[in-house]
Amino acid sequence: MDIKRGDTVKVVAGNDRGKQGEVLRVIPETNRVVVQSVNIRKKHQKQAQTQARQGQIKPGIIQFDAPLSASNVMLVCPHCHEAVRVGHQRDADTGRSHRVCRNCQSLID
Ligand SMILES: [Zn+2]
Repeated sequence: MDIKRGDTVKVVAGNDRGKQGEVLRVIPETNRVVVQSVNIRKKHQKQAQTQARQGQIKPGIIQFDAPLSASNVMLVCPHCHEAVRVGHQRDADTGRSHRVCRNCQSLID
């Protein structure tokens, strides 16, 4: 996966197409990402059944950012500010792999 936590991404498919946000969480196992203020779901929390749990769980509507497929988002390049495809480049000296913007060719990290 070419997306990392803290990246800014743009949603290119699905209900939230066109939205942009920061990646809060990456879930490599399912190839999903959680993006701030994207894919907002509402969950109805029921009244807790026992006295003890009533102190912990508040009934009502909870909003949360649901994971969406990483294939529905594209990285927004910090240099050219476009939603871009990502390439990889290995640094000959350190042996570390860097992400490269395919649009402006600059190193992303
Ligand atoms: Zn770029």
